[in-house]
Amino acid sequence: MIYKARTIPRELEVYQLLNSRKNLLDYERKHLYALQKGYEGELLFDSMTSFIKADCLILNDLLLPHNKNTFQIDSLIIAPDTLYIIEVENFEGDYFYEQDRLYTKIPPQSEVTNPLIQLNRSESLLRQLLQQLGNSMTIQSYVVFVNPEFTLYQAPINKQIVYPGQVNRFLKNIRPISLKLDNSHYVFADKLKSLHNPNAPFYLPPSYQYEELQKGIPCSYCDSLEFTTKGPYCYCLVCSKKETMEKRILRIVHHFNVLFPEIKITTNAIYDWGCGKLAKRVIRRVLQ
Ligand SMILES: [Zn+2]
Repeated sequence: MIYKARTIPRELEVYQLLNSRKNLLDYERKHLYALQKGYEGELLFDSMTSFIKADCLILNDLLLPHNKNTFQIDSLIIAPDTLYIIEVENFEGDYFYEQDRLYTKIPPQSEVTNPLIQLNRSESLLRQLLQQLGNSMTIQSYVVFVNPEFTLYQAPINKQIVYPGQVNRFLKNIRPISLKLDNSHYVFADKLKSLHNPNAPFYLPPSYQYEELQKGIPCSYCDSLEFTTKGPYCYCLVCSKKETMEKRILRIVHHFNVLFPEIKITTNAIYDWGCGKLAKRVIRRVLQ
């Protein structure tokens, strides 16, 4: 059972919003693509976890603090007798493994980050956190490659890797002998949920200034900034879809807050962010 749902990672959301409001640099666009692909892989994995027959709690997308570190877990499966840490990867194409490093097979054979390194770090930090919480459950951790177009050559057989063709079997095998979840598992899951900090400084944000971003109120269907209003509705001039003004204003308020969490949300701030396209009295009413 999904006990903590996955939401779009803040870093991805920031990059997506910047992409529609300024020209990203080449490396930033590549990073956005990698983030998007990673997130798609996680959603694909989520669609497969429905095959788990065992009594278990699934916590997706955890950012947990421990001492002065923050660690991230794509999916944590709490089964009655074991905790499974899952690092989901959506690599596509041919790679090879050599001396604990991962390289793309196609020349120039460039090294990519070995996800087992992040997995080991997460496992170590989770184990320390468990000790602190007085929890003695066994931990198993795996990198799960979900993309059917992925192949890894030369990886040692004893690595904690689940390949695309094994994911369903792997999930079906999460089958505790006869145990069932009890209250202590729920208490533990709630504790982790309370420790989860979505705003933890886990990544270096790209640098951007308010002045350089395009202002306006984009259509939620086609991103166009051109619209006309009639009564409580906005009509997109490109795709003709209709939305209430309230919905559209609340969306740019959310965008504004994601990109500039330190700036106070006021009628004037949102009026300017929306490029003066909607009357201040309408914005004020929605904000209230
Ligand atoms: Zn539109």
